[in-house]
Amino acid sequence: MKFGTKAIHAGQEPDSTTGAIMTPIYQTSTFAQSEPAVHKGYDYSRAGNPTRTALEKNLAALEGGRYCAAFSSGMGAIDAVVKLLKSGDHLIAGNDLYGGTYRIFTKVFEQFGLAFDFIDMSKKENIKKALRRNTRMIWVETPTNPLLRIVDIEEVVKIAKEAKALSVVDNTFATPFLQRPLALGADIVVHSATKYIGGHSDVILGAAITNDESISEKLYFIQKSSGAVPGPFDCFLALRGTKTLHLRMERHCENARKVAEFLAAHPKVQKVNYPGFKFHPNHAVAARQMSDFGGMVSFTLKSDDIEAAKKLTTYTKIFTLAESLGGVESLIEHPASMTHASLPKEVRLQSGLEDTLIRLSVGVEDGDDLVEDLKQAIERV
Ligand SMILES: *Cc1c(COP(=O)(O)O)cnc(C)c1O
Repeated sequence: MKFGTKAIHAGQEPDSTTGAIMTPIYQTSTFAQSEPAVHKGYDYSRAGNPTRTALEKNLAALEGGRYCAAFSSGMGAIDAVVKLLKSGDHLIAGNDLYGGTYRIFTKVFEQFGLAFDFIDMSKKENIKKALRRNTRMIWVETPTNPLLRIVDIEEVVKIAKEAKALSVVDNTFATPFLQRPLALGADIVVHSATKYIGGHSDVILGAAITNDESISEKLYFIQKSSGAVPGPFDCFLALRGTKTLHLRMERHCENARKVAEFLAAHPKVQKVNYPGFKFHPNHAVAARQMSDFGGMVSFTLKSDDIEAAKKLTTYTKIFTLAESLGGVESLIEHPASMTHASLPKEVRLQSGLEDTLIRLSVGVEDGDDLVEDLKQAIERV
């Protein structure tokens, strides 16, 4: 079955009692039992809920995985995956990681005896150099946020396997429509389904997907024990999102390409980060592991005035100034003071994230209108 068919049908069938085409929202905390511990597969909604099961099956199918555990947020999923480790273990991650991931690693998990190294993962020598005897997990985001660097997933998987470490890919930016890390050998995929999978900026939700039965059992155990589970209505919203994921991603990619090309040709623009450009340093890897280049673009103006960059984010009329990404509507933001403010300034600058950088989440509006909007805003600064 191809992607678009799975997106609409995987894990979902008409409701067995009423024939309802849409998966019902099983808004219940508990389930009747006929005798103690005898039930129809569900006993308590933290452990399992039929609406959540439908979403988990759907997301597993889209990533080409056998198991999926859904969480109440992307951070909930990330928290659960790191809990596969134990005190004394070491994790290697990229140095332009999502700010919240950096924060939970350093501010929450370091306290429990886990050690972290943050490196430029686009060069495999760096990963090999960072390996320690106790390295048990290598964490990849690709494309990275907000610099849109590309990490070669197959290379990381190879290094991780040799080191007997788990490889984890945060696939939020690419989505399974553009990139399927499990097929490239990764052990676990995590998602902030809040972004493209939900797609409509109306739900916070996360997921972890794997093909490995023993990893899945541990994840389900942590899901039930720590309890960061999504409610049935949120699962319903995410499922409504996956039905159009393929359609939305095609338009996100088309519009991002148009916007990136416009920016690259603009005399006031210094640098455009977009993996679809032939001159992007990792374009070849992106072209190999992704089927298209996604909906995110970031750029700097020639002016090194931080205030000018911040002003620009308030001059657009269609692009809304807001954090987050992946919704149908276009968003603009200033990473250094917004999404990436939780990264210490030295870490930020070391990773190449300048204070003048502007990030765009290119939506699915008419692409020409988006270009016109950016054009008038840039002319004003
Ligand atoms: C937003 C995001 C997260 C966190 O997800 P939430 O749903 O906000 O908890 C993790 N990773 C990436 C790449 C993200 O963009």
